[in-house]
Amino acid sequence: MPLTIEHLPAILDALPDPLFVLSESGWYLGVYGGTDTGYYHDGSHLVGCHLDDVLPAEKAAEVAGQIATSLREQRMLKVEYQLAAAEVDGLEDADGPAEAIWFEGHIQPLPVSIDGERAVIWIARNISARKQLEDRLREASLVDPLTGTFNRRKLMHDLDQHFQELQRYGHPCALLMLDIDHFKQVNDQFGHAVGDEALRSLVRVCKNHLRVNDLLARFGGEEFVVLLPNTRMEEARETAERLRSQVAGGVGVGADKPLTISVGVAQMNAADASFESAIKRADDALYQAKRSGRNRVVSG
Ligand code: GH3
Ligand code: MG
Ligand code: MG
Repeated sequence: MPLTIEHLPAILDALPDPLFVLSESGWYLGVYGGTDTGYYHDGSHLVGCHLDDVLPAEKAAEVAGQIATSLREQRMLKVEYQLAAAEVDGLEDADGPAEAIWFEGHIQPLPVSIDGERAVIWIARNISARKQLEDRLREASLVDPLTGTFNRRKLMHDLDQHFQELQRYGHPCALLMLDIDHFKQVNDQFGHAVGDEALRSLVRVCKNHLRVNDLLARFGGEEFVVLLPNTRMEEARETAERLRSQVAGGVGVGADKPLTISVGVAQMNAADASFESAIKRADDALYQAKRSGRNRVVSG
């Protein structure tokens, strides 16, 4: 038998994503599809309910506004929102995902009135997997894969933010530029894998001796930058000295050959053109630390 109008109810119920028919004034006129409890909760009890009765006030108002926009502009509207079963009246104990779901809603004005009122079709697609992937990618894009510290991109972003806070509110901020001494020899003598492990070990030691708000980032190769918010020169120098002595006493490579670092310290200045000036001063100070014998702290 060919497809006929009699098949429509079964087709609607088999829609992979839930489809809601919502009136302009906020009544659920129909709920179809979305029956896979791996993705959705059964919302069939919503038929006959009003948005204000089943959703938290803020979300009900948002949905009403989106319906109004779609009807006013007579176009399909795409929205993203997060909703947990616990937030929808009557859904708390239904089978379905336990955690809040991210939805992409497609809202389409209906070309016919229902019971004298305009209405829309609202299709809600579960996009939680995509959102999680986006979160992971965002995190990964800020982290150095070898050491797990933040990378240069994150450092530049935070430096810029702190520079603006210094200019606007006068919050001080200091930088440490760290470079491992004679690291090439470590690789040459013990191999690249041992060198890699030394980098991770250095990061562990540094993290143990920094505050939660300090940011440790791999600047490149065997060079790291520590961003010290709300820190003035003297305190930054003390932190640098603490890191230097902890590394010298706590990071061994190969047959316990101690690893050492040289550190350049600099302060951000509100009068600088950008945070790059502070990086340059820290780098110059680091160069001086190298020239004057390594395993030492110099401030610029
Ligand atoms: P200095 O005391 O002047 O800093 O000497 P150095 O040997 O540390 O300096 P140089 O810049 O000449 O060498 C840096 C070395 O760091 C060379 C490079 O092979 C090594 N390196 C950079 N990145 C990595 C990495 O990811 N893993 C390993 N194992 N080595 C790295
Ligand atoms: Mg080096
Ligand atoms: Mg270097």
